Amino acid sequence: MNRKKTMTTYEMSVAFYDLFFHPESRLSLRDYLDHSFCDEMGEIDLKHDKFSIHYHVEGKYFSPTSDGTFSHLYPFILEHIVHPEDREIYAGLMDPEHILENLEKSPTPHFAFIHMRYKLQDGSWRYVEQAVISGKDNGLPEGVVRFYVFDIHNARVREQGLLSNDESALFEEARDETTGLYREKTFFAKADAACKRRKKVDLAILSIDIEHFKLFDEWYGRDSGNFLLANIGTCLRKHAERLHGFAGYFGQDDFAFLCPNDMAEIEKIYGDIRGLVLSIGFSVGFLPGVGVARVADFKDARDAFDRASIAATRAKKDLKQRIHVYDVSMQAQAEKEYHQMLDFMEGLKRGEATFFLQPQVRLSNGKIVGAEALARWVKKDGTIVPPMEFVPVLEKFGFITDLDKVIWEQVVSWIKELLDQGIKPIPISLNVSQADIFLIDIPAFFKELLAKYQVSAKYIKIEITESAYAQNMAVVDELAKDLRKMGFTLLLDDFGSGYSSLNMLSSVKVDVIKLDAQFLHLKNEDLKKGIHILESVVNMAKSIAIPMIVEGIETLEQKDFLEGLGCRYAQGFYFYRPVTKDAFAKMLEDGKAIDPSGFVAKVNEQFRIREFLDKNIYSDTMLNNILGAVAFYAWEGGERVDIIRFNEQFYASVDVPDFQERLTNIQRFMPEEDKPKMYYLLQEAMDKRLTGSSGVLHFYKTNGTLSSYIMKFYYTGDKEGSHRFYGSANNITDFANLQSYIKLITKYTSDTFIFLSQTEGKFKLTVAAHGLSEVTGITMEELQAQLDDGSFYAHFDSKADKAAIALIQSSVNENKPFSLPIRYKNKNGKPVRLHIRGDFIDDATYNVKYIITLRLWND
Ligand code: C2E
Ligand code: MG
Ligand code: MG
Repeated sequence: MNRKKTMTTYEMSVAFYDLFFHPESRLSLRDYLDHSFCDEMGEIDLKHDKFSIHYHVEGKYFSPTSDGTFSHLYPFILEHIVHPEDREIYAGLMDPEHILENLEKSPTPHFAFIHMRYKLQDGSWRYVEQAVISGKDNGLPEGVVRFYVFDIHNARVREQGLLSNDESALFEEARDETTGLYREKTFFAKADAACKRRKKVDLAILSIDIEHFKLFDEWYGRDSGNFLLANIGTCLRKHAERLHGFAGYFGQDDFAFLCPNDMAEIEKIYGDIRGLVLSIGFSVGFLPGVGVARVADFKDARDAFDRASIAATRAKKDLKQRIHVYDVSMQAQAEKEYHQMLDFMEGLKRGEATFFLQPQVRLSNGKIVGAEALARWVKKDGTIVPPMEFVPVLEKFGFITDLDKVIWEQVVSWIKELLDQGIKPIPISLNVSQADIFLIDIPAFFKELLAKYQVSAKYIKIEITESAYAQNMAVVDELAKDLRKMGFTLLLDDFGSGYSSLNMLSSVKVDVIKLDAQFLHLKNEDLKKGIHILESVVNMAKSIAIPMIVEGIETLEQKDFLEGLGCRYAQGFYFYRPVTKDAFAKMLEDGKAIDPSGFVAKVNEQFRIREFLDKNIYSDTMLNNILGAVAFYAWEGGERVDIIRFNEQFYASVDVPDFQERLTNIQRFMPEEDKPKMYYLLQEAMDKRLTGSSGVLHFYKTNGTLSSYIMKFYYTGDKEGSHRFYGSANNITDFANLQSYIKLITKYTSDTFIFLSQTEGKFKLTVAAHGLSEVTGITMEELQAQLDDGSFYAHFDSKADKAAIALIQSSVNENKPFSLPIRYKNKNGKPVRLHIRGDFIDDATYNVKYIITLRLWND
């Protein structure tokens, strides 16, 4: 493949500014510069030796903010603000003695620009472009120059990455590129120096970690991950400046921060980062955890940071308290855990480990379809220890497999006992720990076990936690395949607890997803987010049609909510707590609470609309959550259509105060010409039962104005002498208005409007109106085709247009507006001069990111 030569940042600038000096260009450079997103803009009056700053970005550069004399300022800038290696470049243009002459003699008179490194307030360097204009043509009095500073740092750094590693390495050594923060070595050197200098201040080091950050990338995309890191970098830099501290970034999601040991300040920092994470990804599974250690208590900054990291690990496990301060008890805690582990292992040897069973039920009738075996330690004195008190320590010290093997065998032998007693067992879930997967040959172990007790694999389900998957997808996937081949049902445990991604779901081969409802146990704002997470996780699962079982349901409200989302199986205290195996055997024997059809797991359940109409399953919550605005209609076949049932969303979307009075004869509220269309759509829905019908219909609002709806109808059968339908209605009134508004504009201005929308990272360009079809000889369909197959830009004509394309693309990437002249080839290949303009509007309702306007140049 041919490697295209990329333009350097400098060449891009040249090409771009050339646009304005094109003999036919009507864009004024001054206008462009004045309206561009510069970081700083000011004027120098050389006659009176004055300078003034008209605009500057607060807190970014190390530059004067008040007006003064240029002859004083110039040497200061040269000495302190311009990078030593770039001083020549700067002086070459800006020297007070020569600047006017330089501009006069410039290849493009009265205009020049330079690229150089400028100092930021935190002392680091950043690449900027400084553009300078002068002269009457630019609207400036004699002796006055106007300058503009643009941040081109990212482009230059990227370019250096491509061009010369040495130079960029030199420049970037101390700081991380994404976050702009100090790398490890520099951070600790600076922190130690600061601690020495500021002995009198009580300093603390923070270790800041974003929980499951690796998965953030996977879930939201690498760009979002980097975007988050960069934002955290900026946020920490700001705090560092304010608190005279330092911030460091050590890769992945590890941040370090040195600041006064002041809890209120630390909470502010945490709050800001939390806000950033939530603004980018809403999952509470990605919240930061902060560990704090007092520098004075430890040997040096590095030692303090290590302690802070231990505290951060704790903070991450703690859903409620996300800032933990290191204290010596943490050391003691580690010792305590060691003893806990020893105690348990002795208990295990004495045969004190056993299992309880927690029933799993079918939501529609509450009957038992399976159970999960959960380990318990029953001490000699009768106390029952729950697994949270020994499973984590066993995992930590690597002894979990000893327990699991015991529990698995106990369960299989118990099933055998049931069979021998003539009791029909139901499938029991066994938990597999991540460590087991790497320590023993699980399929071989089970094979032996089943053979030893003569028990069929159909009575066993195996739960593998999502975190195990996330750790090593390939190995776990292989294991899952083997186990399924042996006839076991495979469950993905704790799904939704933070590691989930759509990516993972589409590649793992499991029979059932076990959804963790822990997010529903949150409070207030967090609960709202929890509901969001659950909804999206459920939708993910639905999108690939894997059945779900939800665990941790504690209340009727939670049950209704999840049922509403379309979940069919559940496990939770609301139904049953874990019970002893004897109690469970009694329930099996009795049979009343058992659903003999069992747990239908192997079938891929398609979305069956009939289920929604089945009174046993469908609820209002379900309609509201899944179907959006929905109503049920009755049609006699003539000229009468009634609404017989509707949901809240439908009511909200119709938005008329007298809705209750409008439920019968809804055709009364339509324009005459729409009525036959509605009957036609209903007839069509009857003819096409599977696909239904849809179209735009209009209704009068109470105040007499018209609303537009996209309506869908599905035929459900005949009842009490009328045809019955259900269907959705989306109010598109505003959108319809927008479109007719645009049509109106085009009638008078002959412009072309293109909407740019973005879904799931993909851009889509849609021609909304095409007023230029005559001028260009290109029809709306042809233009749309050019946009669809990406050939639109290829129809741009001149060389300068290539730079324009680059500028448009980079503007779109940065959500900046753009406005440029271009030459666009008409039907016969002749260039037509157009003005292309993009307005960033980012309208979530219509999913429109930009409105791009094409206009004839000479009107
Ligand atoms: P898990 O596998 O996710 O098991 C479900 C846990 O949720 C059980 O806790 C169960 O009692 C609890 N639970 C069920 N319904 C509700 C509810 O409505 N509300 C609340 N708050 N909790 C509910 P348990 O028995 O304490 O077990 C905790 C964890 O310990 C298990 O989570 C599992 O990861 C681990 N574990 C238990 N037994 C074993 C075992 O034999 N081997 C291994 N490796 N891990 C085990
Ligand atoms: Mg489990
Ligand atoms: Mg679980």
